[in-house]
Amino acid sequence: MNSLLAVDADIPAGNIIVESIDGDTVRMRPDLRDTEGHWFYWHCRLRGGAGRTVRVEMTSPNTLTTRGAAASFDGGATWQWLAPTGPADWSFLCPVPAGADDVRLAMTPPYAGEHLRRYLEARGHLEVSMLCTSRKGRPVVCLRAGGLAGDPPHRVVVTARHHCCEMMASWALEGLLDAFAAADDAGAWLRGNVELLAVPFVDTDGVLDGDQGKNRRPRDHNRDYLGESIYPETAAIRQRVPCWSQGRLRAALDLHCPWIRGVETNERIYIVGSPDPGMWAEQQRFGEMIERHRRGPLPYLAADNLPFGVAWNVGGNENTGRSFGRWASTLDGVVLAASIELPYAIARETDVTPASARAFGADLAEALRQYLMTL
Ligand SMILES: [Zn+2]
Repeated sequence: MNSLLAVDADIPAGNIIVESIDGDTVRMRPDLRDTEGHWFYWHCRLRGGAGRTVRVEMTSPNTLTTRGAAASFDGGATWQWLAPTGPADWSFLCPVPAGADDVRLAMTPPYAGEHLRRYLEARGHLEVSMLCTSRKGRPVVCLRAGGLAGDPPHRVVVTARHHCCEMMASWALEGLLDAFAAADDAGAWLRGNVELLAVPFVDTDGVLDGDQGKNRRPRDHNRDYLGESIYPETAAIRQRVPCWSQGRLRAALDLHCPWIRGVETNERIYIVGSPDPGMWAEQQRFGEMIERHRRGPLPYLAADNLPFGVAWNVGGNENTGRSFGRWASTLDGVVLAASIELPYAIARETDVTPASARAFGADLAEALRQYLMTL
């Protein structure tokens, strides 16, 4: 007799609501928690399915990427895609190998606390310190890289996970940070000319708890740069960055992921256009640098940047909050402030994976170097 299937979210960054389990069919959906409206992050553990083919039906739409769901049969070490059972179908089949009794399923391969911890343990060139303590009492980490011993002319700040579910941004951040340790001329230039400050998990509690984060009520972390900040992380960034940069902040990059799939720009890498024409011109100039110097597999075209006023980039009104990018563009010395959107699964038909996202991060570092050399 078959053992019973069990699905739970009791894993790091876990998120699922199980509606029913009937034989080999699981029906489930993302746990929205304090999200306003629909969102699509989920990540769970499936047990009891070894040697069987489990059918998973997501009961809310737009919860699978175009490539399907991500599955790991080795406890989260490696991941593969399981294709949807049909177009615009939110179901997939999961053939569980014999002996695999801890299967992880997710919308895309997750990046949470253990990933950052492992990364930092392996990278001695990064100075790790605490930005602040999260609402739930966790340390919020910030990193410095580059010319820490000297007095380099340029300062750059990079943030990720203002929206905690946007995990592909973290792989890109790893690639960007690694460029500062590279044993080549580009790495030497970055170390000689740039001091970088990075906040890898702006919404640390959300990342570790597996929240959506996007459209969190009453406002999410990337709307929290107006009036008094309601989150300790954003308050600390607003306090720390101007003190640290001393008027020499040249660039501020904020890494994001767009909507889950398809529809206009969501399967392309792009910069979110500023309403300020001067800043939009700098964003376009930076985009041209990425396009020209790109060596990684993920395609990027400056023409894919999303001008202000197009699609979702209509700004809303500032009474509901201000983004990190808009705030950073007001700081002394800043020439470039940009939010960059990296898709969850596909960029112009090339797979976005931890490896390809890391390579895109390296491309961003090289574009940054080329850009700063023109200032
Ligand atoms: Zn975002």
